[in-house]
Amino acid sequence: MNCPSCGAKINPGDSKCEYCGTSIEARQASGENVPPQETSLVKQIAFKRVSILVMILLYIVTLGFYSAIWYILRRNEFKEIAKGVNKINGLIIAYTVVTVLNFFLILDSAAYYAPELGIISWACFGLGAYLTYVIRGAIRKHVSDSGNGQMLPYVLPSALWAIIFQQLYLQIHINKLIKSRVFYER
Ligand SMILES: [Zn+2]
Repeated sequence: MNCPSCGAKINPGDSKCEYCGTSIEARQASGENVPPQETSLVKQIAFKRVSILVMILLYIVTLGFYSAIWYILRRNEFKEIAKGVNKINGLIIAYTVVTVLNFFLILDSAAYYAPELGIISWACFGLGAYLTYVIRGAIRKHVSDSGNGQMLPYVLPSALWAIIFQQLYLQIHINKLIKSRVFYER
């Protein structure tokens, strides 16, 4: 069944829509029409569901290096989603290089003052922000192309939050998209 408000797929047992928060019983009781399910020719993409708490722990334990690993492990999925966006692969490689540099500078700065650390850390953040911005656009286009255009106001709605929270914000929405079966769970 689909959410009567945004059209996301919902499990029969759910009391509210994972995407827009609409209370399902209330809407059904009021007799509102459920929009028909649209068929789609867009390939379904399999993503891994990761808890946000686990992600934060992994960032801390790896001194931020997990952020590059997160993109590397999902590079094929993002390439599939962002068909035609050739720069995704190059951006992930550049981001990984800067993250590795940042990682070693953090280790170094524990021993002595590393003045490059500030610049590299900002480069890391800036590149990560741009990568997130590109992927945000690609995911939104994918959701729209797969016949779920009515969900768009709820899928990665804020570019600002995407830029600030980067992978955390992307993963929150990937988890939701898995739950509403726009993505498969890997
Ligand atoms: Zn909804």
